[in-house]
Amino acid sequence: MLITVENLSFAYPRGEREALAGIGLKIAAGEFVGITGPAGAGKSTLLACLNGIIPNLQPGRLEGRVLLDGWEVGRQTVAQTAETVGTVLQDPESQLICADVEEEVTFGPRHAGCEEAETAERVEEALAMVGAAHLRRRTTASLSGGEKQRVAIAAALAMRPRVLVLDEPTAELDPVGTEEIFRVLGRLHRERGMTVIIAEQKTSHLARHAGRIMVLYAGRVLMDGAPRAVFARQKELSRVGVAVPPVARLAAGLGLAPGEELPLTVAEGENWVRRRLGR
Ligand code: ADP
Repeated sequence: MLITVENLSFAYPRGEREALAGIGLKIAAGEFVGITGPAGAGKSTLLACLNGIIPNLQPGRLEGRVLLDGWEVGRQTVAQTAETVGTVLQDPESQLICADVEEEVTFGPRHAGCEEAETAERVEEALAMVGAAHLRRRTTASLSGGEKQRVAIAAALAMRPRVLVLDEPTAELDPVGTEEIFRVLGRLHRERGMTVIIAEQKTSHLARHAGRIMVLYAGRVLMDGAPRAVFARQKELSRVGVAVPPVARLAAGLGLAPGEELPLTVAEGENWVRRRLGR
């Protein structure tokens, strides 16, 4: 198992209640996992436990453990963990640290001690993987939000991680930028077998790309399953403030025939409506 989380609890120093309250889960290599849930559910805290920010940089009370390929994350440095887990955060401004794109993507491997030739090869590959080879000479300040996040993904990929962890990477992006990011993640997953773990409120996008959805609520895992099974539980989801993809809401509202699959995407919804109309 690539990731094993055992009975994980975490409380911030001045937190009134535990941000994570006894989480257990396993994620296999090659999965695309969408983590959703209302604000304050514990999504960011869980991701910070996967990349070692907790407990290495964020103090607090931690119980349980996270194993990455059998190694305990809490016993490694953030730099060691970063060789396996690449992280992309919400705000593209705060995570790009260099003046231009090439420098940004070069930063990680160079500081990890890669030789020049190897670094150059990694930078080339990472930029190509996110469709940003043409942005190489641009200043990071001149990029659109979607382009900035693609460069942030490339910077993570240049470390050749086995897992990409993304914390609401599209929260600051418009619909075009959001689409861009999900297209890149879908391709990395399909074509490169990348393990993707993404916290995201935009459930329509998760429904299209994730093979598994976890719903967090008050620091616990409320649901964990295939998107179709999770988005069928619409009353519970709306009670905890998780948006159900509109196509799934529409079909459930009109009523599914016994045994009929819940459509999740626009394409599935279109087929479903056609069948309904008898053509
Ligand atoms: P989400 O990512 O789902 O919005 P978070 O993991 O950010 O949730 O937060 C989980 C809980 O921990 C919330 O109650 C939040 O207020 C609290 N929390 C998050 N960061 C801190 C912090 N730095 N200090 C104290 N409490 C925090």
